[in-house]
Amino acid sequence: MAGPDEDQLAMSPLPPGSRIGILGGGQLGRMLALAAAPLGYRCHIFGPEAAPPAGQVADAVTIADYLDEAALSGFAESVDVVTLEFENVPAAALEFLAQRVPVRPGAKALATAQDRLVEKDFANSVGAATAPYATVDSLAELQDAMKKIGPRAVLKTRRLGYDGKGQVMLDPDSDLSQAWAAMAGAPSILEGFIAFDGEVSVIAARGLDGTVSAYPPIANRHRNHILDISEVPAALNPVQSKRAIAIATDLITALEYVGIMAVEMFVTGDEMLVNEMAPRVHNSGHWSIEGAETSQFEQHIRAICGLPLGAMSLRGRVEMRNLIGDDVEQVPALLAEPGAHLHLYGKAEVRPGRKMGHVTYVRPDPGAEGSTP
Ligand code: AMP
Repeated sequence: MAGPDEDQLAMSPLPPGSRIGILGGGQLGRMLALAAAPLGYRCHIFGPEAAPPAGQVADAVTIADYLDEAALSGFAESVDVVTLEFENVPAAALEFLAQRVPVRPGAKALATAQDRLVEKDFANSVGAATAPYATVDSLAELQDAMKKIGPRAVLKTRRLGYDGKGQVMLDPDSDLSQAWAAMAGAPSILEGFIAFDGEVSVIAARGLDGTVSAYPPIANRHRNHILDISEVPAALNPVQSKRAIAIATDLITALEYVGIMAVEMFVTGDEMLVNEMAPRVHNSGHWSIEGAETSQFEQHIRAICGLPLGAMSLRGRVEMRNLIGDDVEQVPALLAEPGAHLHLYGKAEVRPGRKMGHVTYVRPDPGAEGSTP
């Protein structure tokens, strides 16, 4: 057990010049590394993919499998703290690293967010409502669950689904054996279909000292199951808004989380149903680079390095649009618009559905004091 001195040492901020290890090398890692630099930190990217976008702006890159112990060991020795931009890092890799260097957020948060069943059980255990759900491991269980949860429902794999992948929408006319076959035997979950009024996310931060802060709820719209537009603040009434923030606060606190966590929710009247938790910086928070006092990327770096959290207030009404696939061809035209803040992710190949960049607009809030209409 750590004595008081060790506890204190673990809580003290990492000095400038320290190295942050980031598991995953995509755009989230890239924006984390860009935010770490002005705070005086260097980043080391670790992941299996060649030419990671984050590697272009990092101090060091290791391209290796997440289960390559020799590579993990060298990585752990070269950094002072490890974080991640990709939640499906194998648990064994995190355990290996956690024995050598602080890993923030920790294994509990990761294990919870990696499995939709564990995630929903956890949300309910802290009093956060979800869609009704049942575990499905066979066609017979699916048929049974449809009777209880249907007539409209969504069948999802428990693990590794994102952006609508590993999901089948079901209605009374659906062929259940075909739907079950699409899961390819993967442990799954059936969720009741929610005819929601809208989708929002709350992005919250928890510091090493337990301080919690959050941005106002963000309204999200999807195109082909991929986030298209985020707007903040979401047009919620004060009851809805307060509830959404309270849910995120309860979840992040119960997980003893360190860093940024996103909670996606369905809005149904005054009720907020938790859909998913992301134990990392999130696409629906990219607007915060220009639109908030402290960006989600800086806030995450502050938290994992033991620094005080920054203010999460807005700088206006903010909108973020993702540039997906050949949307990037619009870049010159987008840049001709005053107030368009462009972020490209440095991906060489344009593919349909691939997130290539985003653009943010910050507009004066007509309700705010001193703002111009
Ligand atoms: P997910 O991968 O769970 O984030 O789901 C992707 C998208 O599918 C969500 O953002 C919703 O638009 C839709 N969706 C997922 N689950 C449900 C549900 N239970 N009821 C209605 N729509 C859903």
